[in-house]
Amino acid sequence: MSSKKRPVNTICVHAGNLEDEKYGGATSPIYTSTAYDYRSEGTNLYPRYFNTPNQVALGQKIAELENCEAGLIFGSGMAAISAVFMAFLKTGDHIILQRAIYGGTSHFVDAEFSNLGIEYSFVEQINSESLKDHLKENTKMIYIETPSNPLLEVVDMTVVSAFAKANSLISVIDNTFASPINQNPADFGIDIIIHSATKYLGGHSDICAGTVSSSQKHMDQIWKTAKNYGGSLSDQTVWLLERSIKTLGLRVKRQTRNAKKLARFLEKHPSIKKVNYPGLKSHPDYKIAKAQMHGYGGMMSFEFKESINHNRFLEELQIVKVALSLAGVESTILAPTETSHSLLTPQQRKDQGITDQLLRFSVGIEEVSSLIEDIERAMEKSRKIAK
Ligand SMILES: *Cc1c(COP(=O)(O)O)cnc(C)c1O
Repeated sequence: MSSKKRPVNTICVHAGNLEDEKYGGATSPIYTSTAYDYRSEGTNLYPRYFNTPNQVALGQKIAELENCEAGLIFGSGMAAISAVFMAFLKTGDHIILQRAIYGGTSHFVDAEFSNLGIEYSFVEQINSESLKDHLKENTKMIYIETPSNPLLEVVDMTVVSAFAKANSLISVIDNTFASPINQNPADFGIDIIIHSATKYLGGHSDICAGTVSSSQKHMDQIWKTAKNYGGSLSDQTVWLLERSIKTLGLRVKRQTRNAKKLARFLEKHPSIKKVNYPGLKSHPDYKIAKAQMHGYGGMMSFEFKESINHNRFLEELQIVKVALSLAGVESTILAPTETSHSLLTPQQRKDQGITDQLLRFSVGIEEVSSLIEDIERAMEKSRKIAK
C-alpha cells in the first residue's frame, strides 16, 4: 500500500465524514432508515448489507487509518473475526494461529473449527522456523495478535507477511492492543487488519463494535460472507463510534506516554518483580517493537514480589478501576488468572508464563502523577507483614 498517509489526527477528524448538505452542520448526519427507495441509484441500501451512509463513511475512516483500500464496521470484534475466518476457510483447510491470542478467538477456533472440518495449529513462538514446521499443503491462513495479551509479546510482522506471500497464505492480524495510532500492519504487508472497536477505537468503555480493513479484493469476499452472518452495527452506534474516533489520536498518544512513564516507574520499584511493556529496553522483543510500532501503546502487565498481597492491592486502588475489558479513557486493571485466562489449567498458565501475581494494566488518560500516587498508596497498604 502507499505509505503517503495524511497526518493521523487529520484522518481521525476528517476522513470519511458525511456532509450535512442541507444545513451545513459540522458533524455527520445520522441516517437511521432500515428501508430505502430501491429505485435510487447504486446498490440497495440495508443495514445488514453494511452499506448505509453512516456505515460506509466510517468504513472509509477506518480504511484510511489503517492505510488500506477498504473498511467494514461490525457489531463486535468477534463478529469481525468470525466473518474473516468464515470468508476464507472451508472444510479441509488448515490455519496457523499464534498461541497467545484473545481468549474469545481461541475459544471460537476450539469450539467451531472441528465441527466445520477446519484444521488448526496453535504456535507458541511465531518465527520463520516454527511457521515452516507447521505449514501444510492445505494451509490457507496465518493469524497473529501483536502485542499479545497479557504478556505483551511482539511478533515480527515482516516475517509473517513474507512467509504468507511465499506460500500464498492470507495473513490476518488482530491489531486491537496497538490501535491504528501505534501500528499499521498493512505497511508491513499484512493482508487483513481487525480491531475490537470496543477497545481503543471506542475508547470510553461504552461501545461494542469491530472493524476489518484490507484491499478491496479481500473485502469483497469478506462482505459476501459477512452479510449472511448478519453481524453489522446499528447506525446510531456507528455514528457514536465515528465521534469517538475523532479523539483517537489524542487519547492513544496520551495513554502511550502515560504507560511509558508508569512502566519505568514500576520497573524501578523494589516491590515489583517484572514489568512487561514493549517500550522497555528490558523487554525481549523491544527491537522488533521499535521497528514496527509508532509508539508502544497503553497496555502493560506486571508482577509483584511475594511481599505484596495482590488481592489486597486491587481492593486498595481508588483511581484505577478493577474491570474487565480495556482501552478506555479511565485506567483499569485485572488479574488474568481470575478473568481472561481463568479457563486455562494451572499448568497451561505456567507454560505461558501467566502467574497468580500477574496484573494487566490498561493505562488511561489521567494525570500520570495521580496514577503513580494511587498505585504507591495501594502497594503500601497491601504489604505483607514479615513474620
Ligand atoms: C476484546 C477483544 C476482542 C473481541 O472483541 P469484542 O468486541 O469483545 O467482540 C478481540 N481481540 C482482542 C485483542 C480484544 O481485546
